[in-house]
Amino acid sequence: MKKIQMVDLRSQYLKIKDEIDAGIQEVVDSCAFVNGPAVKGFQADLEDYLGVKHVIPCANGTDALQVSMMALGLKPGDEVITTSFTFIATAEVIALLGLTPVLVDVEHDTFNIDPVAVEKAITPKTKAIVPVHLFGQCADMEALQKIADKHKLFIIEDACQAIGADYIFNDGSKKKAGTIGEIGCTSFFPSKNLGCYGDGGAIFTNDDKLADEMRSVVNHGMKVRYYHDIIGVNSRLDSIQAAILKVKLQHLDEYADERRRAADHYDKAFKDYPQLKTPVRWDKTTHVFHQYTLLTEGIDRAALQQHLMSKDVPAMIYYPVPLHMQKAYLDPRYKEGDFPVTEMLSEKVISLPMSTELDDEQLEHITSSVIEFLEK
Ligand SMILES: *Cc1c(COP(=O)(O)O)cnc(C)c1O
Repeated sequence: MKKIQMVDLRSQYLKIKDEIDAGIQEVVDSCAFVNGPAVKGFQADLEDYLGVKHVIPCANGTDALQVSMMALGLKPGDEVITTSFTFIATAEVIALLGLTPVLVDVEHDTFNIDPVAVEKAITPKTKAIVPVHLFGQCADMEALQKIADKHKLFIIEDACQAIGADYIFNDGSKKKAGTIGEIGCTSFFPSKNLGCYGDGGAIFTNDDKLADEMRSVVNHGMKVRYYHDIIGVNSRLDSIQAAILKVKLQHLDEYADERRRAADHYDKAFKDYPQLKTPVRWDKTTHVFHQYTLLTEGIDRAALQQHLMSKDVPAMIYYPVPLHMQKAYLDPRYKEGDFPVTEMLSEKVISLPMSTELDDEQLEHITSSVIEFLEK
């Protein structure tokens, strides 16, 4: 059996090696390492795929979030509402810009930001909401949009884990994750659903003025060369990464199907075990399974993880510490007990290996190792 990894990047590469190698070689031959044709080409392909007017490539997902907030003109003291159950980057950029992160709890079923809690957290200082489409399915965008419209707030979608997922509106129409709010952000970190071979990210918007502003922010605040009207940053996607992403984008929907196939296999294997609640698939979104995350009930999660490790099955805890309990983010406004769903999840979730290349033998080994622990 092939060694099981949380994400098997090598097997995925080998399947498309010729296309990838040719793309990289082309960039090297051209020596257009920065802002070359590969970047423009990938940008156009991604705009088509997402059905969005503007894609602004940048250096990583964290920058994408930061640049969004800079372009919206958010000022120190402005409040930005986000979820307490996410990767730190989301809150980090809010804090770095001197804005005030306002955390709210998540929904029990989807682990995504709870719109009712969002509305309760709004004050006269609130300027934006940052929903995170966690683990590969969209947050409740229709409810959030309604709140944002009512209170005149911006929505910046953190779609770092959900590129390619469809949000399905009440009227049956669909939009891609990250293209619904004013701005959407994604990451091309290697382990993400659309990952490059280093760091990368992108920002999406349908707003021409914002797009213009963000293109300037990522380029040292410059519209005309060497004239700096605003303070910007240096955040670029390099051409080699763009060439890789251009190839992989063509496979993104197949990749999502492969991930769902693995998820189906897990769901089926665990359906009769009340100790494990399999991921809820909400009917307003497709699920692209960035992670396959189980909610454990009445079992020793650490012992399960240990058992799996002894069977060469990696399993990870995303995320073991809620944002409001992270040392750097301790804040007198928050205390343990404030976000009961988040706190419960951080104690009970466990994520199994998830990638596009898990074969049946590996899936079988993973599920039987889990079940062996449950039946012990
Ligand atoms: C990965 C991730 C980011 C940051 O992306 P980087 O490219 O690593 O900077 C931000 N938010 C979420 C939810 C993520 O999963």
